Amino acid sequence: MRAVDIITKKRDGKELTREEIRFFIEGFTKGDIPDYQAAAWAMAVLLRGMSSEETVELTQAIIASGDQLDLSGIVPNVVDKHSTGGVGDKTSLVVLPSVMACGLAVGKMSGRGLGFTGGTLDKMESIPGFRSDLTTEEFLTQLKEIGLVLSGQTIDIVPADGKLYALRDVTGTVPSVPLIASSVMSKKIAAGAQAIVLDVKVGNGAFMQSVEQATELAESMVGIARHAGRRAVALISDMNQPLGNAVGNALEVKEAIDTLRGDGPDDFREHSLEVAGHMLVLGKIEANQKQARAAITKVLQNGAAFERFLALVRAQGGDVTFVEDPSRLPKSRFVETVPSERSGYISSIEAREVGLAAMMLGAGRAKKGAPIDHAVGVVVHQKVGDHIEEGEPLFTVHANDEGRLNEAIERLNMVHHYQDQAVDPLPRFYRTVGG
Ligand code: URA
Repeated sequence: MRAVDIITKKRDGKELTREEIRFFIEGFTKGDIPDYQAAAWAMAVLLRGMSSEETVELTQAIIASGDQLDLSGIVPNVVDKHSTGGVGDKTSLVVLPSVMACGLAVGKMSGRGLGFTGGTLDKMESIPGFRSDLTTEEFLTQLKEIGLVLSGQTIDIVPADGKLYALRDVTGTVPSVPLIASSVMSKKIAAGAQAIVLDVKVGNGAFMQSVEQATELAESMVGIARHAGRRAVALISDMNQPLGNAVGNALEVKEAIDTLRGDGPDDFREHSLEVAGHMLVLGKIEANQKQARAAITKVLQNGAAFERFLALVRAQGGDVTFVEDPSRLPKSRFVETVPSERSGYISSIEAREVGLAAMMLGAGRAKKGAPIDHAVGVVVHQKVGDHIEEGEPLFTVHANDEGRLNEAIERLNMVHHYQDQAVDPLPRFYRTVGG
């Protein structure tokens, strides 16, 4: 078998066999198939798509590239969550300690920033000392000891996804249903999840642009879960504006800490409550969503969720004094707030542009493996439906370079759209698939 034949077969829109998919993923993981061939193959998959059988095979091949965890002896109900990626999406930082505080242990494998979206690990690494590169043994020990782990793809688990994810990030091959579905589900299944809450983002700040596309992705992931004998529920959630206000690593950590202390922006708190609620129900901790939301609200108010976050940071080598006092988190040299040039109702916000502005400031990567700047980013002060007066703060840019600061301001000056008549706030969720 030759990699080039597999690439041309997919380029020509044909269905790949199980053997071909296995050969390609195995060869790429071992380094026998170079990045340039894997990138060409990923582009062919993006353009030509995959059947549901191929997507299941791809997921299995990615899982087979490394070890699989069996967490059943450690935690009674292994429930996980995963977001398909958005702008300002710091949900895991709040949801994980919250469900743990309600009695649901979670060992989660997360990703890094992808394209214009941020990544949980990059955010957590804003906290000095925080380690995301746990070995399987460390992952299991920590789960047993404190019931909470937030780790990257370790070398032992789904190494193929780790490599492919980084390559897709810089080759324009992210927004593909089979590539996203296999990437997300391989991580979840290999990490031993029996039940999974999927947060499928849709809108101008997501990889999926329409509710139909997001539904296709949700159905694909729920189908992969079913095939692997796991339960999954997918929430199709709005990403037509940043989630919360902060976009950028340390800025988002601070917003998550505020939320864990019972504060934080309304939309982000509501989103976290909904996702966490579904986890508690899937994990059989609470009987229904109403009770689950009440339980989460309680642990956000009484400090129990925040305590769990501290325990997580401590366990992974992070300096908790930065969490106790988030004003110590990395700060940028320039902080500039830009006022609104007119009055009116905010009718739309181009979330992708906000994500790109943050990335351009250094919060994300333009090249595989490039370092990122944890301090930089953007804070949007208004949401769709809000009324703003001319001169009121519209957004704040945090930058470490004057040139980039000005470029970001120029870009961000175009992202808000206004109208004179009142505008309804955006829905938070559109639909639920599976469950
Ligand atoms: N999250 C993932 O884990 N993989 C993707 O491809 C996109 C979002």
